[in-house]
Amino acid sequence: MAKTYNFSAGPGVLPDEVITQIKQEFERNEHTHMSIIEISHRSAQFQAIVTEAEQKLRELMAIPEDYAVIFLQGGGSTQFEMIPLNFATNQSHIAILDSGNFAAKASEAAEMLGKQATVLNSTKGINYQKLPILPEHFDPELYDYLHIVTNNTIEGITFHQDNLPSTTGRLVADMSSNILAEPYDINAFDAVFAGGQKNLGPAGVTVAITKKDWLAQQDVRHVGPMMRYQNHIDKQSMYNTSPVFSIYALNLVLDWVVAQGGVTEMHRRNLEKAHKLYAFLDQSDFYTAPVETNARSLTNVVFTTGDLTRDKMIAKRAESEGLFNLNGHRSVGGFRASLYNAQSMAAVDALITFLKKVEKEQV
Ligand SMILES: *Cc1c(COP(=O)(O)O)cnc(C)c1O
Repeated sequence: MAKTYNFSAGPGVLPDEVITQIKQEFERNEHTHMSIIEISHRSAQFQAIVTEAEQKLRELMAIPEDYAVIFLQGGGSTQFEMIPLNFATNQSHIAILDSGNFAAKASEAAEMLGKQATVLNSTKGINYQKLPILPEHFDPELYDYLHIVTNNTIEGITFHQDNLPSTTGRLVADMSSNILAEPYDINAFDAVFAGGQKNLGPAGVTVAITKKDWLAQQDVRHVGPMMRYQNHIDKQSMYNTSPVFSIYALNLVLDWVVAQGGVTEMHRRNLEKAHKLYAFLDQSDFYTAPVETNARSLTNVVFTTGDLTRDKMIAKRAESEGLFNLNGHRSVGGFRASLYNAQSMAAVDALITFLKKVEKEQV
C-alpha cells in the first residue's frame, strides 16, 4: 500500500509508534491474562495508568499543584455544560469572546442551563477571519469568568499565548484542538478542558484542569453528581467507570510526546509544518488562506480556491492520491489540513506537491 496521510480534524492522526504499540499490547498473554478493555477501572493496573497519565500531563504542561487534573467522558461538548454548572454559581453570568463555532456553542449551552451568557465581541460577521478583541470597558467583576476557545478548529484561528485576552478576572479555555501543540502558561487560566480526539488520543476521554481554590468557592448543591468536578477529583477520575481504553491510549501518546522532547519540540515542529504550508498558500495565486497572519492556527490550516464546488472536487481527487480528509468543516466548506502533533513534515510536503500540481493544471 502506498503511503497515505490523514488530515482529519478529529478524531485526528495519532503517532504510528502508538498505533503499533496498541496493536502489540492488545492481546491477552501469559503476563496480562486479559486485554486492556477487559480490566476493571478499579484494578491496580489501571490505577497506575491514570496516575502516570496525570503525572505526565502535569510535567508536559507545567501544571502547578493548586490545579486538579482529571479524565472524563462526554467530549468537549459536555464541558460546555460542566464549566458553567461548576463555575457560574455566583453571578450566574459568563462572558464570551466569540471566535468561532465552538465558542458560540458553549454560549448557547450556558444559556440553556439558565446562566446569562454575554458575547463581548464576535468576529462572526467577517467569517471569523480575525480574533475578537476584549473590549476596553470589560469589567470582570460582573461575570463569573471569561470563556475563550484557544484554537478554533473549524475556522483555523488561534489565541496563541502571546495574543491571549488580558483579564484580571477568571479565564476558562477550551483547548480541545491545540493542547500540547504549543505552549501556554497554565497560570493564565482558571480552568482548561480538551476533548482527547484532536491531539491527545482517541475519542472517549476529555481532560479537565481546574483551579482548586476556585472550585472550593462554588455552590454546587443543585448540580447532579456526575456533573460535579469535585466528585471526579475525589475519586481520581474513577468516580464511575472510566474510559479505560481511551485513557490507556492517551497515556501512550503522552509517552510519545515526552520522548520527542515535550511541548517545546512539538511547538517547534508545528511551527515548521504550518509555516511551510502557509508560505506556499500565500505565494499562490490560486489558493488563499483567509485568517489574519498573527492568529493563524498551527493545527488547523484553513484555505480555499474561492470556489467551494471546485474545492470539493480537489479534496476528492486528493483521496485518490493518498491524502485524506482535506474537506473543510461541513458548515464552511473549503479545505482544512489538520497538522496535529502526530502529523509528519512528509504529510505537509505531499500535500504541497499535490496542491502545486493541481494549480499548474488550472493555468
Ligand atoms: C471538537 C471540539 C469540541 C467538541 O468536542 P466533542 O468531543 O465532539 O464534544 C469543542 N471545542 C473544540 C475547540 C473542538 O475542537
